[in-house]
Amino acid sequence: MREENLVIIGAGPAGISAALYAVRASASPLIISKGIGALQKAKKIENFYGGAVSGQELYENGVNQARDLGVSFLETEVLGMEEVEEGFQITTPEGIIHTQSVILATGSRRSAPKIPGLKELEGKGVSYCAVCDAFFYRKKKAAVLGNSDFALHEAEVLSNLAAEVTILTNGKEENFSRECPFPVETAPIARLDGEKKLEGVTFEDGSGIGTDGLFVALGTAGSAEIARQMGAELTEKGHVVVDSQMQTSIPGLYAAGDCTGGLLQISKAVYEGTVAGIEAAKYVKSKKNKIEKEN
Ligand SMILES: Cc1cc2nc3c(=O)[nH]c(=O)nc-3n(C[C@H](O)[C@H](O)[C@H](O)COP(=O)(O)OP(=O)(O)OC[C@H]3O[C@@H](n4cnc5c(N)ncnc54)[C@H](O)[C@@H]3O)c2cc1C
Repeated sequence: MREENLVIIGAGPAGISAALYAVRASASPLIISKGIGALQKAKKIENFYGGAVSGQELYENGVNQARDLGVSFLETEVLGMEEVEEGFQITTPEGIIHTQSVILATGSRRSAPKIPGLKELEGKGVSYCAVCDAFFYRKKKAAVLGNSDFALHEAEVLSNLAAEVTILTNGKEENFSRECPFPVETAPIARLDGEKKLEGVTFEDGSGIGTDGLFVALGTAGSAEIARQMGAELTEKGHVVVDSQMQTSIPGLYAAGDCTGGLLQISKAVYEGTVAGIEAAKYVKSKKNKIEKEN
């Protein structure tokens, strides 16, 4: 198992700013990131300090600046995270990483697909967190909506309790980096069935399956999904709740940038990343001092 002191998930303005300040506060952060964040999607930015620049250029400048300061990067996807003794355990396709502190900086939550019945059946069979809700599907049928490693990870968590688990890709191609041991249904979904509780899924070709639960696990795990797995507090809109030090409701777990809601702007992500980096570095230092005193 890889051991780290501070892991930052996300290489956007929040994650990079957190790393720049954490290094200056004597921490040695590891940035884990995979895929394109909001910054790289912005063609031209005209309202950030310093003048017009493309999002891709700003992203590359930030990553190079952090690399020059000695920040380590790992290009992989975070699939899940749990609180363990003396810190957190992060699951990635490359293996497990143990760390004392984590900064969530994965950008804003992805929107759920517009499948008729999905919104209405939230909490009545539709869930967004296998670790949190798998227990309710003990010896029952469950399905996971998604087509990537995140969906596979959620299916594995469910399979410890559910009688059977099926992955539904909703018309997308399977995109798993390893063999998927679960049945996969790729047909596009027409609707979810059931009124008081989820009863099944009907596909566009008229066929269907019965299921007691549907777990939404699209794309990669965002901060909301990771925070939910950990039991950290979220707002009704799925933003991570933080205090003025950018600490979540779990000590040692920080969040910054679009994932905390409010203004979805670079300036806010940079500020929050700055605070999170300084505070997480302080947290790691105080833990180290405590361990040294005890020994
Ligand atoms: C088209 C567009 C135009 C915009 N224009 C402007 C503008 O003009 N001015 C302005 O101020 N703001 C603009 N924004 C908003 C701005 O880009 C965001 O507010 C800012 O990028 C948020 O920074 P962040 O670090 O929180 O998240 P992001 O920039 O979204 O970075 C998130 C990071 O997390 C990584 N990540 C996510 N999930 C995982 C996972 N499970 N495992 C590993 N890595 C993961 C991603 O790869 C990425 O590196 C624009 C946004 C868009 C989409």
